[in-house]
Amino acid sequence: MSQIQLNNIVKKYGDGFPAVNDVSLDIADGEFMIFVGPSGCGKSTLLRMIVGLEDITSGDMMIDGKRVNDLAPRQRNLAMVFQNYALYPHLSVFENIAFPLRLDKKKHSDEEIRRKVNAASSMLELDDHLERKPGNLSGGQRQRVAMGRAIVRDADAFLFDEPLSNLDAKLRGQMRTEIARMQRRMGITTVYVTHDQTEAMTLGDRVAVLKKGVLQQCASPRELYEQPVNLFVAGFIGTPPMNFLPARVQGNTLSLPFVDVPIGSELAEQVRDRDLVVVGIRPEYFKDASLGDDAPRDAVRFRAPVDQTEWLGNEQYAYIPYETDAAVQAKLDELDRDLDGEGMRPQMVVNLDGRSRIREGEEADLYFDPRLMHVFDPESGHCYT
Ligand code: ATP
Repeated sequence: MSQIQLNNIVKKYGDGFPAVNDVSLDIADGEFMIFVGPSGCGKSTLLRMIVGLEDITSGDMMIDGKRVNDLAPRQRNLAMVFQNYALYPHLSVFENIAFPLRLDKKKHSDEEIRRKVNAASSMLELDDHLERKPGNLSGGQRQRVAMGRAIVRDADAFLFDEPLSNLDAKLRGQMRTEIARMQRRMGITTVYVTHDQTEAMTLGDRVAVLKKGVLQQCASPRELYEQPVNLFVAGFIGTPPMNFLPARVQGNTLSLPFVDVPIGSELAEQVRDRDLVVVGIRPEYFKDASLGDDAPRDAVRFRAPVDQTEWLGNEQYAYIPYETDAAVQAKLDELDRDLDGEGMRPQMVVNLDGRSRIREGEEADLYFDPRLMHVFDPESGHCYT
């Protein structure tokens, strides 16, 4: 069991731009922590510094209150869990799990090895497969063998670096569920690196979102989704991504494409010196008024022309182009590039109930709850609401 603390961690390769820039984070005992962000944001570097595979330029890495910056990986007692390629094909499941103990023969008797492997395999539901070779196991079972190897070592924490990135979508889904189940059952501190926001949201107790080496927000998946601190986090979390709409500030009103939205005096005060802000509304927050469902009393209603639709049975997407302001668009394009996109189209994506029958080329009758709207400063990206 282990608590991992990162205090003002900086990593510079050579004298370039810091790959990790002043990251501070407490990972609690038993917590499942995710590092997520686009390619090059520094998440693998951060993980490698925890495990000791990379030097730390400055800051303190603490494990259970002890500074470990200068300890070799072996002395940190953390286990990197590798995918099936780290299993020995000619050894049985039992021997694969026992492997780290056999390396240190003097320390572990045969009896102790048997006891530890049996305990781990029962925890991982591998008892019936101990005599099999890895080649005869499913992907999920192999993953569990790899975890078993870390368990017999009594590692204080598991560290995963994009373990599912090479798998097809179906297997990835299965393995994700498997890892989540095993981690909950064992309650062992786990740090998991991914660029996939679905993995981040489904696995993590908390998710640390990184951009260009800087920690943007570390929070529960629900908090990241509902209260993103800035445009970057808001755009990164959620599929399809949040709509970012340019909105002109006119006193106590925000003028969005198609509709004016009244705002409270507190927000009006905050945006007083801005001409333009960015309003974020998730695609699923829009509702189809023609379905006649109960709407909140202060719902914002508008009509908008639909360019394209997609009906998937349980949901319908509608794509609504809008006129934009060049300066705002340039800002949104820049943000989108940070998110590894290719620029943002001035169109609203609306994700409706499967009962919707909105048609291309017609106007849709839509509404949304203004309390679910996020308002961002286009310059700093900071969220006001
Ligand atoms: P990816 O998802 O692509 O693996 P990442 O978020 O894990 O990306 P890192 O691999 O940690 O990012 O890299 C962060 C930055 O540090 C990148 O700009 C990368 O080019 C740089 N970097 C990583 N390793 C080295 C190295 N050994 N030498 C020099 N620069 C490096």
